[in-house]
Amino acid sequence: MPVDARWTSTEIAREAGRLEGRPPDEILAWAAAQFGAGIVFATGFGAEGCLLVDIIGRHRLPIRMIVLDTGLLFPETYELWRQMETKYGVAIHAVHPALTLDRQAAQYGARLWESDPDECCALRKVAPLQQALRGKDAWITSIRRDQTHTRASNRVVERDATFGLVKVNPLVAWRAEDVTAYLKEHDVPSNPLHAEGYPSIGCMPCTSPVAPGEDPRSGRWRGRVKTECGLHARPAATTFPLNDNRGAQ
Ligand code: SF4
Repeated sequence: MPVDARWTSTEIAREAGRLEGRPPDEILAWAAAQFGAGIVFATGFGAEGCLLVDIIGRHRLPIRMIVLDTGLLFPETYELWRQMETKYGVAIHAVHPALTLDRQAAQYGARLWESDPDECCALRKVAPLQQALRGKDAWITSIRRDQTHTRASNRVVERDATFGLVKVNPLVAWRAEDVTAYLKEHDVPSNPLHAEGYPSIGCMPCTSPVAPGEDPRSGRWRGRVKTECGLHARPAATTFPLNDNRGAQ
């Protein structure tokens, strides 16, 4: 998937340094202006995703929004999806896997998420996103650096080795408390499961509540070494300096 030739490594690094620490509304406005119809925001309606939907919706940014609908999301997540569309008057498009759950079970065995969660994520998340990003130049994510050690070196703008395009991470420098404060201040809907011990919410079979003091993502694929769906590969090491203004806003 060839990215617009202007997005060389040097240009990406320059924009990553310039936008480090800038507020997400500025980063999203920049992304919309740069990529136009060539950019997609993929959300799973985590707290960070809801925050970005709020900005895109309130500022009427022309950014296509999608959800990887694995067919295994919590009922509360589907309800939140409808609530966000209604509140902001936007369409958040469903992207479906090629296989229904029944066909997946017939081909790969029942409960693939138990026998081979990497394959399950590849079929129900990675391949559908790859399809949704075909012909695009860039995508937007909600990741933060302090969520996992594999995200610690992500930049505001970077080249995405997994999908071969530019990746924009407007909240990468934010902390969980910054997100919570924003949602409260702007009255943004969020998943009621957060209040029931689910700080990080994915598919039902692979998400469990966490106890106080546990790592917030420890409820994802609990008991396994797996920490990612495969959508967010660790970025290549960078050699350019960060700006000093990297605090969340
Ligand atoms: Fe399958 Fe679990 Fe990955 Fe969802 S999170 S796609 S159920 S392995």
